[in-house]
Order: sequence, then C-alpha cells, then structure tokens
Amino acid sequence: MAPRDVIVVGLGGAGSAAAYHLARAGLGVLGLEQYSPEHVRGSSHGRSRIYRTAYFEGTGYVPLVRRAQRLWRALERETGIPILRETGALILGPRGSVPIEGALASARRYRLDHALLSARECRDRFPQFRPTDGEVALWERRGGVLVPENGNLAHRLGAIRAGAELHYGEPVLGWSASRSGVEVRTDRERYRARTLVLCAGPWTRRIVPGLDLPLEIERQVVLWFPPRRGVPVGRFGPDRMPVFIWATGGTRFAYGVPDLGDGVKVGGESGTPLRRPEASSPRLRPGEGTDVRRFVREHLAGLAPREREFATCIYTNAPDHHFLLGPHPAHPNVLVVSACSGHGFKFASAVGEGIADHVAGRTSKAFLPLFDPGRFAARSGSRP
Ligand SMILES: Cc1cc2nc3c(=O)[nH]c(=O)nc-3n(C[C@H](O)[C@H](O)[C@H](O)COP(=O)(O)OP(=O)(O)OC[C@H]3O[C@@H](n4cnc5c(N)ncnc54)[C@H](O)[C@@H]3O)c2cc1C
Repeated sequence: MAPRDVIVVGLGGAGSAAAYHLARAGLGVLGLEQYSPEHVRGSSHGRSRIYRTAYFEGTGYVPLVRRAQRLWRALERETGIPILRETGALILGPRGSVPIEGALASARRYRLDHALLSARECRDRFPQFRPTDGEVALWERRGGVLVPENGNLAHRLGAIRAGAELHYGEPVLGWSASRSGVEVRTDRERYRARTLVLCAGPWTRRIVPGLDLPLEIERQVVLWFPPRRGVPVGRFGPDRMPVFIWATGGTRFAYGVPDLGDGVKVGGESGTPLRRPEASSPRLRPGEGTDVRRFVREHLAGLAPREREFATCIYTNAPDHHFLLGPHPAHPNVLVVSACSGHGFKFASAVGEGIADHVAGRTSKAFLPLFDPGRFAARSGSRP
C-alpha cells in the first residue's frame, strides 16, 4: 500500500480535528478508529461540554482557547452544523480559592468581559444558583456550551471533503517508527506514512507503551435533572442560565450546563479509577451519582431531586492536569496527543490546527512547553 503523509490513530475529539486540519493543509491523511463514529466508550460524548475563556488552570491557556473558539465558528460556517452556543459562564467558590483567583488572573490579563459577583449579586442575577455568603462568583460573557458530537461530526465531514480517508471498526494493534517513516499495524492491514499522530484518549498509555506515561483514567458520571414540578422550564434555558463550575471544597468541583431540552446536566469530580477503559459499564453502579444529587439539592434552586437520565464517560488525567501534546521524546515523527484531564474538548479545534501546523513545518501555537509529553520522563529520570 502506498505510504500516506500522516496516519491519525483515534477519531474522537482531538483525532477528528487533527484529520480535518491535516487534510485541509493538503496532506494525505488516513484516520483509524477502533469503534463506530458515534460510539460512547471514550471521552467525547454526552451532548454538551463547557466552553470558557477565563481559564483558572493557567493564563497560558487563554490565547489557545480563544483561537479554538474562532475555529469552532469557522467550522460551523463551513459545514452548517451548530457547535457552540454562548450562555456566559460562572465560576463559583470561596474568595481566594484557586479557581476564583486563577479565573480572575486570566480575565484581567486578557481583559476578558467579566464581573466578580458577591453571593447576593449572583443569587439576584442568576436565581438558579445558591452560593453562601462566604462565596463569590466570577461571571464571564464569552462562556458557553459545545455539542461534542456535532463538533466531531463537522470535523470528520470536513476532513473527508478535504480528501482524508477515515476507517472505522479498525483497531490499531501496534506501530513502529524510524527516521524514514512509521508503520502501523491493524487487524486488517499494515500502513506506512511519514508521520503518526496518536490521539487515543483513554487508550493513550496502551498505544504509547514505551514512555510509561503517568496518565490515570477515571470513570465519570453525569446526570440530567428536570425542573421541580411547578417551576417554569424556561428558568434553566441557555438564555437565562450560564454554564458553571463550582469549587465545593479542597480540590473538588461540580459543574453543569443549562437545559438544552433534556434537563440541566450536572457532574461532579469524584470519579472512580479504572484499570482499562473497557471496564467502564454504561450502567450506574450502586452509590454512583449520590454526590451529584446532594450537590443539586444544596446548591441549585428549583430542580427535581432525582435525575431523568444519566451517562458515563472517561477522563484521562495527567498528574499536573495539563495536556500532553507534542513529539514523542524518542521519535520526532510520532506525535502524542492527550488533551483531557477533564477539560480538553473546548480546545480540540485548536489542537487539530496546532498538529497540522507542526506536521507542515510551521510553528505550532498549541505545542506549549506546558504540554510537553517528555516532561514526566525528565522528572522521574526514566528514559523513553
Ligand atoms: C464527563 C466528562 C465531562 C467533560 N466536560 C468537559 C467540559 O465541560 N469541557 C471540556 O472542554 N472538556 C470536558 N471534558 C473533557 C473532554 O471531553 C476530553 O478532553 C476530550 O473529549 C478528549 O478527546 P480525545 O480525542 O482525547 O479522546 P476520545 O474522544 O475518547 O477519542 C479517542 C479515540 O481513540 C480511539 N482509539 C483508542 N485506541 C485506539 C486504537 N488502538 N485504534 C483505533 N482507535 C483507537 C477511541 O476509540 C476513541 O474514539 C469532559 C470529559 C468527560 C468524560
């Protein structure tokens, strides 16, 4: 089989974006996905993802997330598929907490349209939320909701239109790399290319075995709540209720998005460690969801105490909660991409563009030193 320019492994959030931008850069792209296009076994399903720009995880993320927004908008215009809806965003928590101070630092440094609200101001303006008097809320205008299934579909369609070949139901079993190129082995075929891009989400450790990456995967549960009987549905609509992240104590968070026709979606950050992605069952386990129901009861006003629906999903967490994005330390023609730690979807469009820029020999704005996949090997002294 004739060699391609690039093989992309995994066509979820990051991989579909990479295939799109690589194909649009004029490169010959083969994308390989182990499951079907709309599968729910990875990290990019669940009908909504929070988009926000006052980034508390570091001011360094702000230019990238703003670039991602412009790219999502361009993708919507190109494909006619709606992806991002602005609702505003709220970060709630104690004054002085890392999320509040971090979001404020980003908002001030980049002059983002924002306001720091006292608990009372927040309750008056957004009666869906019940912060206590020791808490504050940072509101930002440009926050919103992304529909991940639509984003991925638009990237895949755009990639195919630009000439990419995408295969589904074809797991990659192994790969090798040398200076002259890469070879990828699937259950059907061996393929060769100049460059390999590994976007395997929760399967990243398995597909990059040599590096012993300290990534941990975690099962997450999200629940959709209808309004209480007698409470108008419109109170929770995207024109009245912002997306939110609430620092509920220590390193714990809860988050949610407004009712897009299926209830208010709420998740917590207390996941269950998984040994293998395949071990995550789509059913609720006993006790799961209890923390989310308690959060809804104590912090949100007017929602029913029981969910109408639930879903499970997987986080791939780095110890420092930043992404892995850049060349494999031992193979410059192999890119390692794990943009998750529970907050990566919003960046997928800019991550895809950054990958294409790097492969095309341009400076990638997405390959921040913060994301270097080699940073853990350097710390532990191990060799790839
Ligand atoms: C509950 C939950 C809530 C979240 N909330 C937010 C949020 O509000 N905002 C936000 O920005 N982010 C959020 N995230 C994070 C975000 O969804 C992820 O960062 C993003 O989806 C990761 O995309 P990915 O491409 O790395 O992984 P995936 O989308 O899982 O894609 C990886 C793909 O690789 C394929 N694959 C793996 N191994 C192989 C192989 N050997 N051969 C072929 N194919 C393979 C898999 O089948 C999969 O399709 C959330 C995540 C979860 C789970």
